[in-house]
Amino acid sequence: MNPGMYSKYGGIMMGLSKLWELQEMQLRLQERQRQLQTCSLARELKREKDRLEACQETIREKMQQQEDLARQLAGLEGYCQQLSTRRKQLEGKLYSGETNNPKELNSIQQKMDTTAGELAREEDKAMELQLQQEQLEGWLKENTSSFRAAKAAYREKLAQYRTWREGLQQEIDVLAVNTAQMEGEIEPGLLSLYTTLQHRLGVMAIARVVKGTCSGCHLVVPPVLLREARNGKFIYCESCGRLLLP
Ligand SMILES: [Zn+2]
Repeated sequence: MNPGMYSKYGGIMMGLSKLWELQEMQLRLQERQRQLQTCSLARELKREKDRLEACQETIREKMQQQEDLARQLAGLEGYCQQLSTRRKQLEGKLYSGETNNPKELNSIQQKMDTTAGELAREEDKAMELQLQQEQLEGWLKENTSSFRAAKAAYREKLAQYRTWREGLQQEIDVLAVNTAQMEGEIEPGLLSLYTTLQHRLGVMAIARVVKGTCSGCHLVVPPVLLREARNGKFIYCESCGRLLLP
C-alpha cells in the first residue's frame, strides 16, 4: 500500500466511522421516539380519568339525593308532629267532659281515629325514608373513600408518567441536536450516499465487518471485497446491500 493510498483509505475509514456513529445516534433517537409513541400508559390514564369522573358524578348525584331525602324527611316529621298534636287535642276534648252529646262525642272519636290512621301512615313513610337515608349514607361512606384512594393513585401515576415523558423528550431533543451536528461533520457526498441507502434499507444502512461477517445480516463478507476496501473503495454487503465499515 503506497502512502497516498493509505491516506485515502484513512479518509474513507474516518468518514465511515462517523457515519457509523451517526447511525448509532439515529437508532437511539428512533428507539426513544418509538417508546414515546407506543406507550400505552397515556391511554390507560385517560381511561382511568374517565372512570373517576363518572364515579365522581355518581357520588354527586347520590349526595343530591341525600339532601332531597333529608328535606323530605324534615317535612314529613313536621307533619307527623302536627298530626300528633291534633290527636292529643281531640283526645283532650273527648275526655274533658265539655260535652255529653253522644253524636258530638262520636264525631270527635271518628276524627281521632282518622288522625291516628293518617299519623301511622305518615310515620311508616318516614321510616321508609330513614331506611333509604341510612342505605345512602352507607353507600356514600364506602364509595367516597374508595374514590379518594383511586384518585390519589391516579394522580401519582400521572405525575410519574409526566416525569418519564419529559425525561424522554429531553433525551430526544438532545439526540436530535447531536444528530444534526454530526451530519454537519460528515462530507456531503458521503452523507447523501448514506441517506439514499437509508431510503432503501431503513436507518441501518451501514454495517460493520465483525470477524469477517456483516453485522447487519451476519453473512460472510468475501476477502476479495475487503481487499477492495483497503484499496480505497466503498464496499457493500453482497447479501443485504449495506455499506460496509471494514
Ligand atoms: Zn449484510
